[in-house]
Amino acid sequence: MAVYLDHNATAPIRPEALEVIRAALEAGGNPSSVHASGRVARARVEDARSSVAALVGASPEALVFTGGGTEANALAIESVVASGEVRRILVGATEHEAVVNTARATGLPVEIWPVDRRGVADLDWLAARLKGWGAEDGRPFVALMLANNETGVIQPVAQAAAMLREAGGWLHVDAVQAAGKIAVDVTALGADTLALSAHKLGGPQGVGGLIYGERVRITPRLHGGGQERGLRAGTENVAGIAGFGAAADVARRDLAQAADQAVWRDAAAARLAEAGAVVAGEGAERLPGTLCIATADFPSALQVMSLDLDGVQVSAGAACSSGKVKPSGVLAAMGYGELAAGALRASGGWNTTQQDWDRFADVWLAVHARRTRQGERVRELA
Ligand code: PLP
Repeated sequence: MAVYLDHNATAPIRPEALEVIRAALEAGGNPSSVHASGRVARARVEDARSSVAALVGASPEALVFTGGGTEANALAIESVVASGEVRRILVGATEHEAVVNTARATGLPVEIWPVDRRGVADLDWLAARLKGWGAEDGRPFVALMLANNETGVIQPVAQAAAMLREAGGWLHVDAVQAAGKIAVDVTALGADTLALSAHKLGGPQGVGGLIYGERVRITPRLHGGGQERGLRAGTENVAGIAGFGAAADVARRDLAQAADQAVWRDAAAARLAEAGAVVAGEGAERLPGTLCIATADFPSALQVMSLDLDGVQVSAGAACSSGKVKPSGVLAAMGYGELAAGALRASGGWNTTQQDWDRFADVWLAVHARRTRQGERVRELA
């Protein structure tokens, strides 16, 4: 069986989630209906709301369900912009396209907040930028992810939130990759809004959520019925939401186990580094199951395809929706230059074993050795 190390693209569905999804689909019912079936469906949605909110230390009333992480990010960014008090948006240099492209689509100027070589946002830069903030810039608004999807690097969100609060600004946090993999507490982080996605933690695709604090007024993107307290119209995806809730419960229960991944990942990383791979984000705090390496003269696409042929599924930086592999923008932002074209991401999660990481390292080393031998032969013939 193939080794699946692409949890950051999408995690395999957890059996507990699958079970409740099936039950919800079989039962049917619209949560807005007042009859018994409707009430059961409503209970599923509200139970899931409690579970998902608990995963990030929020109260259930502070959570609105969405159609995924992308929509949750958009709902947050567009709501803050709708306040009319924002004139520009600062986004971390390694943010996901869901954040960057949404920020750009608002039509406001988007400023990039740089990261250091480890991929960590530079707090001194933010301090200086906020010091120079003028009235013409409006209220400061920053988007900073909690954990990066390619490198797993964890950002100094709490510090950024404190700085923004002092400056009278807002902070949006994309926690899509962090939730369920590390402990997340929205109050401790100080985020005004926090985006979540079910499929990164073992729930179904196409379901997400936005946690919002008292300082933010949510402006609905969709208009129609009064679902989600008028914040997200449309009949709820009851089965998907129930699956999200079940996955969140199990993820919270098993959080301590998730940390085991780091030991297995680091053992694999050490073997790859000996063969010349550079570990991106090394030295920074990272998600336990994410490994991003960059290798000179070994294009990402070639690595991914070679590993796939040998039964190991990983990705080239971010999983690209177009199916094309571009050099990693995240590594480019970290100053990797041409090395960014040789980026590879392996990401484990709830069902990943030590053997999976060992097998990944075995196969990568074999593929890399083959490539090196080919290179030597070509040079001999030249
Ligand atoms: N934010 C981050 C950091 C992600 O990794 C992803 C998914 O790749 C998203 C947002 C988008 O989430 P979804 O696929 O649920 O729309």
